[in-house]
Amino acid sequence: MDAGNSNYHRCRQAGKTLKYRYEFFKHDLGAAELAEVEDVLKGVILTTGEKTKQFETLFAEYTGRKYAVAVTSCTAALHLSLLAHDIGPGDEVITTPMTFIATALSIMKTGAKPVLVDVEPDTGNIDFDQLDSALTKRTKAIMPVHLYGLMCDMKPMRHLANMYGLKIYEDCAHSLESRRDGMRPGDLGDTASYSFFATKAITCGEGGAVVTDDEATYRKLKLLRLHGLTKTAEDRHREGYQHWDVELFGWKYNMDNIQAALLLPQLKRISSNVEKRQNLAATYDRELDGHPLIRKPVNRPECFHARHLYTVWVPAAIRDRVIEQLIKNGVGMGVNYRAIHLTTLLMEKYGYKRGDFPNAERIGDETISLPLYPNMPEKNAIEVSQILKKIVEELA
Ligand SMILES: *Cc1c(COP(=O)(O)O)cnc(C)c1O
Repeated sequence: MDAGNSNYHRCRQAGKTLKYRYEFFKHDLGAAELAEVEDVLKGVILTTGEKTKQFETLFAEYTGRKYAVAVTSCTAALHLSLLAHDIGPGDEVITTPMTFIATALSIMKTGAKPVLVDVEPDTGNIDFDQLDSALTKRTKAIMPVHLYGLMCDMKPMRHLANMYGLKIYEDCAHSLESRRDGMRPGDLGDTASYSFFATKAITCGEGGAVVTDDEATYRKLKLLRLHGLTKTAEDRHREGYQHWDVELFGWKYNMDNIQAALLLPQLKRISSNVEKRQNLAATYDRELDGHPLIRKPVNRPECFHARHLYTVWVPAAIRDRVIEQLIKNGVGMGVNYRAIHLTTLLMEKYGYKRGDFPNAERIGDETISLPLYPNMPEKNAIEVSQILKKIVEELA
């Protein structure tokens, strides 16, 4: 999960009222979602069935792809993308150190090695100019992350991938609504993977989907999603009983009807919600732009920013004390992300160390994510900005 949101979750789990005056995230699920779930409960099939199929059809349509496969997480979607093209032990997949650890873990689950490439200092997205220096004979694919909703430049990446026969698996956990030069995530990737985790643009608590235009990939993804079974529980009973076979080694990643029911009404709110987040981000910008101690990632003029997160950079020497003071002042926050090559797991397994990716490290040491969700009152963005400025000025 988004590590920075753990306080919020602890409050919820304890059944307490939220302790933050300015919550980091609040979902907007309500009556429409309840009605869809009720519809499932009135039927017989709780697991993967008609609602899942309906969601897949509409989600493929929304993302502009031919096929969508609904799964239980974005991690699963990325894992299956790699498996669908037989990536495994001995292979290398290039990705970014400035992402959630799940991106790298999806590669490691196959037995392949995540090879990290440093990020652009001004956006936090993988630095295309450093990509070819990471290529080896074992490189099979690139897994870019469109960080915070700012899309990577996919045209040169596709060109490079074609030159070396590489696949591209896009991690779109932040970029449901993103555009760049009129293109969308998934337009140039072999697959694009989405997250419906609790704090993502649309959510069913836990969920994900992978989309593709390639029919063979789609067929394999569908098998891999459910044990490699040739028939789902619903299929087996549709017209009398049907026996199933197992054609390949698969996983247990199928999205059920209840999760799909929660997602269906949210598809209609995607564009109004991203607009609300963009307006709130503009308010933050107005309040924080030009402050000598508070910097932030840039937007690119050719991009439609999905604004999944609003992050700022404060001096590394005071970052953790700023966090402490934000919390004391009732401001929920997150850290997206500390550079993942400095996790114990990746340092021990691959020998990564501090100094390997200076741009990712600098961002990881300075970053704080501020509260942002579609129905957040505008005054929260103004007040949080004022609180942040005061804290930073006092600590600097
Ligand atoms: C949330 C997230 C994931 C993982 O999503 P799950 O659905 O929780 O598996 C992967 N990558 C990024 C960049 C994320 O933010």
